[in-house]
Amino acid sequence: MSSQNFANTTTDKAFQVCINPDCGRQFSIGEVIFSCPSCGSLLDVEYDWDRLAVPGSMEFFEHRWSSKGLKAEGRLDFSGVWRFRELLPFAPHDQIVTIGEGRTLLEECNPLAREIGMKPGRLFLQYEGLNPSGSFKDNGMTAAFTLARMLGRKRVACASTGNTSASLAMFAHKTDPPMQGIVFIGSGKIAYGKLSQALDYGALTLQIEGDFDACLRRVRQVSDRLGIYLMNSVNPYRLEGQKAIMYRVLEAMNWQVPDWIIVPGGNLGNCSAFGKAFRELKQLGLVNRVPRLAVINAHGANTLYHVYERDGVRWNGGRYDQNKVKALYAAMDEAHFLPHTVASAIEIARPVNLPKALRALDVMNGVVREVTDEDILEHKALVGKYGFGCEPASAASVTGLRQLIREGVVSPDERVVCILTGHELKDPDATVMYHTGINMKAVQPPPAVPPTGRCANPPRKVADDLQAICAALGEKLPD
Ligand SMILES: *Cc1c(COP(=O)(O)O)cnc(C)c1O
Ligand SMILES: [Zn+2]
Repeated sequence: MSSQNFANTTTDKAFQVCINPDCGRQFSIGEVIFSCPSCGSLLDVEYDWDRLAVPGSMEFFEHRWSSKGLKAEGRLDFSGVWRFRELLPFAPHDQIVTIGEGRTLLEECNPLAREIGMKPGRLFLQYEGLNPSGSFKDNGMTAAFTLARMLGRKRVACASTGNTSASLAMFAHKTDPPMQGIVFIGSGKIAYGKLSQALDYGALTLQIEGDFDACLRRVRQVSDRLGIYLMNSVNPYRLEGQKAIMYRVLEAMNWQVPDWIIVPGGNLGNCSAFGKAFRELKQLGLVNRVPRLAVINAHGANTLYHVYERDGVRWNGGRYDQNKVKALYAAMDEAHFLPHTVASAIEIARPVNLPKALRALDVMNGVVREVTDEDILEHKALVGKYGFGCEPASAASVTGLRQLIREGVVSPDERVVCILTGHELKDPDATVMYHTGINMKAVQPPPAVPPTGRCANPPRKVADDLQAICAALGEKLPD
């Protein structure tokens, strides 16, 4: 265990706390541990808000829009995370690592709203695919890299279904001085767009024989033994950065709190961060109410759904029924269960942030749903048809929304924000396969299977002939 003294910075007002209310042990922010040595629970980053300058209202942050720039604080104002630095005050400002993360958009999407049964003006898409590395992960990496830099670490590592490694690899080489990025990928699915990023940005990439959960176990062991800083979302600083996604949603909605936030659930870091963001905003009097949360699992990786909706496990002030979770994991082991979904970013069976997700569901009066791969792909195509597009896991949010409308849980005139977690181009194979039936990943492509999706839009074969081309466009060649 290493610890470092950050006295005389804002950081003496920040600390880590065990989330188990029966333990509650505290640690300094520089202590590198990812679970409580006493009880094994996850840790939170917490603040001594009374001794910190907290803005009186969210409007405070607007003055930073005019000070964007390359110099000093302007550099931080340009970040969609550090623009809100008073709400994650653990780092001295000159230590902050930023690459311009979080300059993302919230967009009203009426054609999609109509298609899935929402009233106009009620459905909003938060495009986290617009981050530098193409997914929301950059929001968390900026915070975790800041801590790695404060600690003087030279090497950082993660296990990844793809986007964490892409983000880590990008931050590692852009940090000053650069760090070595190390990425553990499983032998299961990884979308080529994401793998190509890790390789292109120069990360040392290790392919382990095993699934994501196996990779995560290994990278935790290796990091611990070799003093490499761990960047998975078990790292509580990641979640501090990801709170900013909610700040930006509020900002884009003129500080009006929406009725619902809908987000795909994989390792459950994102939904946990959202819950923490709103718990703190409420506590600080910066919002007067909290939106509801819907976390969407893929059917083939539905641990949270199972635990929360089928087994009825609740946060219960931190004393949730751990035996039910253990029993589920034991049954999965017994059946040699491996998670399976086209939405590779959420193909995770043992989500490390499960307890924090239960807490977020409690804070935000949440629900959990599971959706099928087929439905995910249909809704991904709709987002592509009416919006900027997204990768399969992201579309789980819209898929879940449609289901919740059908059930009457979400009403068509509520204001709903779906988080689109990753960029369309992360996984072009899934898109091409959907629209054409051609599996681009196969070494020897088998004959195309005719696509069956309702929005399938395959390219059409046309002869190299002007007349034929005009005919394909429904036109006649003018004389
Ligand atoms: C990581 C990721 C998720 C899952 O987020 P968690 O915080 O692990 O629940 C969903 N979608 C995309 C695109 C991701 O990269
Ligand atoms: Zn503890």
